[in-house]
Amino acid sequence: MSNRRPSTVAGLATARGYASGPVFIYRSDGEIPVPEYIIADGREDDELLRLNRAREDVHRDLEGLIAVLKERAGRGDVRIFECHQMLLEDESLRRETERHIREDRLNAAAAVKKTIAGARAQFARMNDPYFRERVRDIDDIERRLLKTLTGYEHNPAEGLTVPSIIVADDLTPSETVQLPRELVLGFATNGGSTTSHVALLARALAIPAVCGLGDITSRAEPGETVLLDGTNGAVTLSPDEGLRIQFEDLVRRQREIAEEARTGKPAGTLKDGGEVLIYANVHPGIPLAGVTEYGARGIGLYRSEYLWLDKETEPTEDEQFEAYKRTVIYAGKIRPGASATIRVLDIGGDKLVRGISTKEANPFLGNRSIRYLLTHRDVMLRQVRAILRASAFGKVKLMYPMVSCIEELRDAATVLEAAKRELDSEKIPYGKDIQVGVMIEIPAAALNADDFARYVDFFSIGTNDLIQYTMAADRGNDAVAHLYQPFNPAVVRLIRETVAAAKRHGIQVSVCGESAADPIVGIYWASLGVDVLSMSATYIPVISKILSNLTRADLDEYAKVPDSMPRGSTAQEIFDACQQWMVKKLPDLQDVFL
Ligand code: PEP
Ligand code: MG
Repeated sequence: MSNRRPSTVAGLATARGYASGPVFIYRSDGEIPVPEYIIADGREDDELLRLNRAREDVHRDLEGLIAVLKERAGRGDVRIFECHQMLLEDESLRRETERHIREDRLNAAAAVKKTIAGARAQFARMNDPYFRERVRDIDDIERRLLKTLTGYEHNPAEGLTVPSIIVADDLTPSETVQLPRELVLGFATNGGSTTSHVALLARALAIPAVCGLGDITSRAEPGETVLLDGTNGAVTLSPDEGLRIQFEDLVRRQREIAEEARTGKPAGTLKDGGEVLIYANVHPGIPLAGVTEYGARGIGLYRSEYLWLDKETEPTEDEQFEAYKRTVIYAGKIRPGASATIRVLDIGGDKLVRGISTKEANPFLGNRSIRYLLTHRDVMLRQVRAILRASAFGKVKLMYPMVSCIEELRDAATVLEAAKRELDSEKIPYGKDIQVGVMIEIPAAALNADDFARYVDFFSIGTNDLIQYTMAADRGNDAVAHLYQPFNPAVVRLIRETVAAAKRHGIQVSVCGESAADPIVGIYWASLGVDVLSMSATYIPVISKILSNLTRADLDEYAKVPDSMPRGSTAQEIFDACQQWMVKKLPDLQDVFL
């Protein structure tokens, strides 16, 4: 047990909930173990051949990287890798490595390590900062050569044998998915932000998480017990007994509130009997049972891309069909007529799939999501066919992500028509009344909402991306998290425009971004007239609990709070005013939303 004093590290409240347990440090790319041995007499040439082949492989990899970068990025990025190629071919480094093989009879990997260690020391001694920086390039070349020579494949989760708090620099969606759920009590990461995909995943899996903790990987000791508070965004290291008892009390209180909300009226019922529909966001790989347990009244967003992320290749039409069908049937069991909104493949940005996503200089602005599908119509056709086939088993809504213009909507409609024609001619049944909707998650879409409404049956506002694109602030980068504000007046204006357009055209409008689950922000969207709030199921009880204590007249009053602020108020000031209104209105529920 650690003798250190308790210390609390503040981060971003990423996924609500509490967890205490031992720390497991997850390192995405550990030290490469390099065997060192004396090669048998007469095997020097074989070892030199291995070294040359490895060098050629690395050279080829770099060549590929340069070609891609030349096409898509600036000269500066290319120069880094050209410099790596030069280092790889450097005569003195090459001769030194070969000498270690011939004269010291070292195996190739050990010879590389020894040569690079010498060069690194030389560079590090130089006064010129430019040359000192070159150490990083040498490290990079060394890693590439050693990986090729040793066939090193690293499993960062090796050694995770007991339920633990995963402490990491950052995690990609596939790394997160691949961790054994039963061994993960919580996530604490140096980087990341509240809407990164790790965050979404943590919420969907009901795993508490705190991101943006800075240097938690170096502060936390492997195996020590820590307290993770995903609701307020804090991790306490080396807690004493008093802190632990306090923490457990907090956990109990929150659980009671959630339980009470769960056993009351249907989710989203207002005090005066009105309602705001509360749906769940789901994706393949999470147990659907949780959805009903938390009171969801339908599935508002099915993130189909996780079928790709899990496998890292395109799932077949039949595999997709089976997954969609299961979800649709499940939705039908929630209540008669409940729908499942299935969103077509939304890859790109931070959701990269090996073999599909190409390297782009600006992936968030690149050929992603619907843009990828419309340039890979065969992939889209297979997916739309699978979704249509599933619609024979219940109520399906088909949704297009990342649409920015009418052309894309028209184009997508031709694929849908083609899929229907094919199924008709193959006599395969599908629901003829399938509704088609569009995500409003690009500012252009919000501004075009009036035109979009002519082409679709519903809107779903994706605030995760809408905020990112409006504020030009990466949703996964904690360094710009302060700019990522749902209450920035520009964001609010776009959402109001979208809701107004939906009302003018009599179509349903929902919010399925994570802000829907925020007690202050989500309720504000509802007050603006949003029909559906769709969120990770675990957040439903709290939002429901708040709504059950408000009437429509209360919501109307709440909607006016930001308007009553003086012009020039900041997003934080607007948030604070809304929070104050809520505290005054529902003093007994402060634990829920403070
Ligand atoms: C969004 O952008 O708000 C959204 C729901 O989509 P995703 O988070 O999957 O990008
Ligand atoms: Mg999105």
